[in-house]
Amino acid sequence: MKRSLIAAVFAAVSLIAGGAAAQQQFPSRPITLIVPFAAGGPTDTVGRVIAEAMSRDLGQQVVVENVGGAGGTTGAARVANAPKDGYTILLWHIGMATSDTLYRRLPYQTLNSFAHIGLVTEVPMTIIGRPRLPASDLNGLIDYVKRNAATVTMANAGVGSASHLCGMLFMSQIQQAVTTVPYPGTGPAMTDILGDQVDFMCDQTTTTTPQIQTGSVKAYLVTSPNRLEQIPNVKTAKEQGMNFELGIWHGVWAPAGTPQPVVDRLVRALQFALGERPVAQRFAALATSPSKKEEATPAALEAKVRSEIARWKPLIQAAGVYAD
Ligand code: ASP
Repeated sequence: MKRSLIAAVFAAVSLIAGGAAAQQQFPSRPITLIVPFAAGGPTDTVGRVIAEAMSRDLGQQVVVENVGGAGGTTGAARVANAPKDGYTILLWHIGMATSDTLYRRLPYQTLNSFAHIGLVTEVPMTIIGRPRLPASDLNGLIDYVKRNAATVTMANAGVGSASHLCGMLFMSQIQQAVTTVPYPGTGPAMTDILGDQVDFMCDQTTTTTPQIQTGSVKAYLVTSPNRLEQIPNVKTAKEQGMNFELGIWHGVWAPAGTPQPVVDRLVRALQFALGERPVAQRFAALATSPSKKEEATPAALEAKVRSEIARWKPLIQAAGVYAD
């Protein structure tokens, strides 16, 4: 009895000591960065750029794993339920905040299931159309959508995605509902746009910029306050008479309960990545703005999530869009 008690105490002490050592040398093995959308989309692109740079700082591979589905909430749930050791982290976006209202039930608690690491980027969206869509400007698109309301299709990455949110805003602006086609990410949706399989979608400039520059898709508007130098011919929504501005921010999260030294190490790696010149150049080419060092912090990300939940809640409730 006594001996087993001593053994139990010894085991507990070595577990604590082992845990502390593991934290000190974090990371001692590769880290998985869950991108909650399919490969080839904007979140995937941002994820791969920062994963590569964070790997260099951490001395361990940060490996992107695409877990698409349910607008990003499936991948987020994977991270919420992962071991609290910093080896499974999440890159997501504004959907972290909007899903909190959009979903009646979530498989995690937005504000309690995650440790915030920091903001990553801010990026505008564009509305693009398939190459043969018979509409060459925004008025033409609105006209086409209204005349073909029964058959026109708009792609998105599921309820809770940025493309879904942007599409909702567009439909409310033109006061016309259209059929939406959900994909596990806008990467595969872009394939169908390019193949004239689906009519149009909202997507971040991270992946639409190269397609617009080469004229592979039609471009109708950008949601930034001013035109972008990378795609100067695309007019803002505002200059075309639409009250429609939207910036999509990204953040990195770990599971709640991740030890503070591990969180601190991930914050340093994220800040290193965002300070890297090739990262800034790559993002700039895709009209994607890296967050400043003071934004790439747990406090800034948490404040963003809280303020964005408050900002979008009444708008989503007024639109009456919910998912189960
Ligand atoms: N960013 C896209 C969206 O939320 C999805 C993706 O990155 O594939 O609509």
